[in-house]
Amino acid sequence: MKGGLRVPRRVMTWLTLAIVSCVSLLSTELGATASAASTSVASRAEMSTVQLDSMNQDISTAVDVVNQFWASHWPYYFTGRYSRPRIFGAYGGGGRRAPYCDGARLGYNNAWYCGQGHYIAWDITLMRRGYRSGDAWVYLIIAHEWGHAVQALLDQRLVSRAKELQADCLAGVALYGAARDGILRFENGDVEELADALGALADKTPWTRASDHGSASQRIAAFTRGAGYGVYGCLT
Ligand SMILES: [Zn+2]
Repeated sequence: MKGGLRVPRRVMTWLTLAIVSCVSLLSTELGATASAASTSVASRAEMSTVQLDSMNQDISTAVDVVNQFWASHWPYYFTGRYSRPRIFGAYGGGGRRAPYCDGARLGYNNAWYCGQGHYIAWDITLMRRGYRSGDAWVYLIIAHEWGHAVQALLDQRLVSRAKELQADCLAGVALYGAARDGILRFENGDVEELADALGALADKTPWTRASDHGSASQRIAAFTRGAGYGVYGCLT
């Protein structure tokens, strides 16, 4: 890869296996695959300082890796110039208040890409909530919001009406593409964590309107399509 190759911090399971697992996990109950260690952590009301440090480290790695993936692959996929979104970062949880986007404050307990300022922001409470059952949560959220930033840079004819599912698809492209590039490694359990996270963040009903995120199975299918087929799997 390019000069800025990072030291991989994670251990990867094979892509083919990963895709098969994703599909077979459609019926897995949320949290059922969490390891014993993370289950015991999940029962605590607050995260330890050590865990918060490692979450912040994972968020920072996710930002670097996803950005590096899109920056290096952009010219092969798209015309126009790649522009890295700014990172507002965390708000809420007793820290900073939510930033403004289009004249209104962003909502809490959520993560966002703001087109007006071309920036990404997240409520730290949302990150903490999912991180208790696995670190893949923060990678997914960062990669999904980055997917919206990618959509904003594209010819709008390439942007699906099912914008949220396309963002999941682009998240799959970035995370699995980064793994293929050798800048991200998957640990055992990550594939299950990703499926669980997509399920936990899903709507209760299938996609019908532009603002819908889609059901768990739709979100997992979209992410898996990007993971397996790359960018072109997300544009059709
Ligand atoms: Zn979204």
